[in-house]
Amino acid sequence: PRTPLTLLGTGAMGTALARAWLAAGHEVTIWNRTPARAEALAAEGAVVARSAAEAVAANRLVIVCLLDDASVGDALDGTALAGRDLVNLTTGTPGEGRTRAAWAEARGARFLDAGIMAVPPMIGVPDSGGYVLYSGSPELFEEHRDTLAVPAGPRYVGADPGFAALYDVALLSAMSGMFAGITHAFALIRPDDITPKDFAPLLADWLTAMAPAVHQSADQIQSGDYTRNVVSNLAMQVAGNATLLRTAGEQRVSPELLTPYMKLMERRLAQGHGEEDGTGMIELLALRANND
Ligand code: NDP
Repeated sequence: PRTPLTLLGTGAMGTALARAWLAAGHEVTIWNRTPARAEALAAEGAVVARSAAEAVAANRLVIVCLLDDASVGDALDGTALAGRDLVNLTTGTPGEGRTRAAWAEARGARFLDAGIMAVPPMIGVPDSGGYVLYSGSPELFEEHRDTLAVPAGPRYVGADPGFAALYDVALLSAMSGMFAGITHAFALIRPDDITPKDFAPLLADWLTAMAPAVHQSADQIQSGDYTRNVVSNLAMQVAGNATLLRTAGEQRVSPELLTPYMKLMERRLAQGHGEEDGTGMIELLALRANND
């Protein structure tokens, strides 16, 4: 028999999650702050609870997928969590994950925090490439692994409840840099008669070809030697930046998505690290307590 579960939050992601569990034969009790947003799922077989407290009381396994950590507090305050297995699929910070874990444990619940590395259309779709990061109670994870695997492949990253959010946000932060570059690239070609759809395959292939550079970066960071196996050293990259900026000027495109990164490269070069790879800039990023 499939584990029955409670799901708080039937927004875009919560609805996709509920559908995946229903399709896999789980009994799903749902609650949403705005009841109208739960109606479609009721027609698909979900049990709709009248309150969050009633939903939490219905099952030992309680999954929350709400807007942010504050909404998790709003929804769960006043519910009886003793003996519950609480899984938080709401995106938050590592600190929020750790604080929420202590909060849940103080109320007698086991706790697992999560970061969903997927968009709703990927949920419940085998081999979609999406997955979910989990951290926190290893016992909870082992016991419910099969149930948690239904919406997307689970990846457990440690007992520290902050780790799922930390991995999640690190990956999203890398993506934000990538999308900044993509936006700038399309801005550069736009003034000319180049069809974006013709350019897109070149861009996708180039990004894919460059992505494995992360392994080189990891090797340099772990060894502490940023000059190891350097292909394009910092001095050469900074010289190249001038061409990127002149091209932006010729195309009448603002360089503002590029310049913060380029300024950091120049600072590292000015400190005498021209022979390093760009990875060495990590040394400039750690903020110290006294802001020096
Ligand atoms: P939606 O905006 O579609 O849904 C937000 C949900 O949170 C709704 O159920 C909403 O209820 C509820 N909510 C908001 N504030 C409160 C509150 N104060 N008290 C109780 N409930 C509240 O967001 P998503 O479903 O897309 O996202 C949910 C989580 O999943 C987020 O943390 C998001 O970062 C994460 N996620 C989403 C992805 C996506 O592509 N959509 C991808 C990866 C992660 P109501 O209907 O009443 O407003």
